[in-house]
Amino acid sequence: MTITGIGHYVAGQRVGGQSGRTQDVYNPATGAVTGRVALAEQAEAAVAIAAAQSAFPAWADMPPIRRARLMTRFLNLLNEHKDELARAITAEHGKVFTDARGEAERGMDIVEFACGITQLLKGDFTDQVSTGMDNWTLRQPLGVVAGITPFNFPVMVPMWMFPVAIAAGNTFVLKPSPTDPTPSLMYADLVKEAGFPDGVFNVVQGDKVAVDALLEHPDVRAISFVGSTPIANYIYETGARHGKRVQALGGAKNHMLVMPDADLEKAVDALVGAAYGSAGERCMAISVATLVGDVGDRIVPMLAERARNLVIMNGLEMDAEMGPIVTSAARDRITGYIDKGIAEGAELVVDGHGHSVSGQNAGFWLGGTLFDHVTPDMTTYREEIFGPVLSCVRVRDFAEGVELINAHEFGNGVSPFTRDGNAAREFGRKIQVGRVGVNVPLPVPMAWHGFGGWKKSLFGDMHAYGEEGVRFYTKQKSIMQRWPESIPKGAEFAMPVAR
Ligand code: NAD
Repeated sequence: MTITGIGHYVAGQRVGGQSGRTQDVYNPATGAVTGRVALAEQAEAAVAIAAAQSAFPAWADMPPIRRARLMTRFLNLLNEHKDELARAITAEHGKVFTDARGEAERGMDIVEFACGITQLLKGDFTDQVSTGMDNWTLRQPLGVVAGITPFNFPVMVPMWMFPVAIAAGNTFVLKPSPTDPTPSLMYADLVKEAGFPDGVFNVVQGDKVAVDALLEHPDVRAISFVGSTPIANYIYETGARHGKRVQALGGAKNHMLVMPDADLEKAVDALVGAAYGSAGERCMAISVATLVGDVGDRIVPMLAERARNLVIMNGLEMDAEMGPIVTSAARDRITGYIDKGIAEGAELVVDGHGHSVSGQNAGFWLGGTLFDHVTPDMTTYREEIFGPVLSCVRVRDFAEGVELINAHEFGNGVSPFTRDGNAAREFGRKIQVGRVGVNVPLPVPMAWHGFGGWKKSLFGDMHAYGEEGVRFYTKQKSIMQRWPESIPKGAEFAMPVAR
């Protein structure tokens, strides 16, 4: 099998990837090395930043409607190529093809949102703020901005960032995950084909070296990060120390609260899809089923049946419900958590250890795992596992469930399942979590609503995309004007007030 060199994308060209430090890229379904991604040195990252910096003045000056038209062309190209993108995601991430296509489509939603940048950048104007004087505000781009993204959504998460950033007049450097880097070059080619000037969108492949180069470079004005909580914390602190605007989205431990009045068949469908879809490698995956009253005794056997019968195979097979784990190291980490859960006394109802898929013995396979009687002191409950492991925690009533969820250090997403509108309403008001899905297991907000968790799931104050995204990537300027005929005679030494 040929091993592809995967390089950077700078100033409208694919560059590098043939020499220097590299990392192997795998197909997780076969375990084979399919590519070798370049890991940029600081100097290579600096070249990409310089390309973005030199493209910035003309790009920022281009009327937003022309930037929006280029974005519309990019959207059309993505539509034409979305199946290729989805296949590339499955080949390096492992998620099933239909899920990968859904990811591409959710990314395209943000591109579509960014096509409306003319409306989003409109400022405010006050006529006659004082006699003969007007005041208006406008939002201007920041300059070069960077995105650092995780392995689990190699198309969608970068698209939470760069379409909004560049539509607003910034230029962009993306540092994707080295685990599944190929899609980044595919959409970089489409950006070029759409007609964006060279240097507006750049890709630097790499690891901590490239990340630190972006964090420390004085020309990078803002950093958007999505990944695990310890790294999000590091990015937030380091970026801020270097005077940058930072939004850093971190990890999660998402609960579903199942009330005794819920439709259990539907709750089981929702739990199985949200816990085991994408092998649990979603920041919005449900990893804790919080079971109220007698729900536990009724629902655990139903969940066990479904977890045992998950269809696990190469994600390119149309019947697959779950693909492999992204890397063998990730699989080891997840099985380590399962072992810890057993050692800590959780009841292992379905064991995913040792799952195999015939003919693909070298793939990174793991079965769906179900724990019951997990308690809040257990590691399995406290830490993010990021794999196909669902932990059931039993609580007496609604109030105990809310208290449990609010006490968790993460606050990314949460989903109450109930038929009681008042309970759902109370839940939505009281819960300390950024996204709530009432009878919706994966409440991933649409492009115009913005995406971000609470507590240790987000460092910074602005969510990704939506209007908060536009605000993150622009700074407000206020301009006042008065013309000679209306300027009063004589110097004024007191604070000016409206006259
Ligand atoms: P990760 O934190 O390991 O990596 C994220 C990015 O940071 C990658 O580009 C990686 O190259 C870089 N990185 C890794 N170690 C670094 C270091 N020491 N210094 C500087 N940069 C470093 O995350 P991952 O494993 O790729 O992705 C999974 C994590 O992302 C999970 O924790 C998941 O919850 C989280 N995630 C969160 C959201 C959200 O919206 N909150 C969305 C998707 C994923």
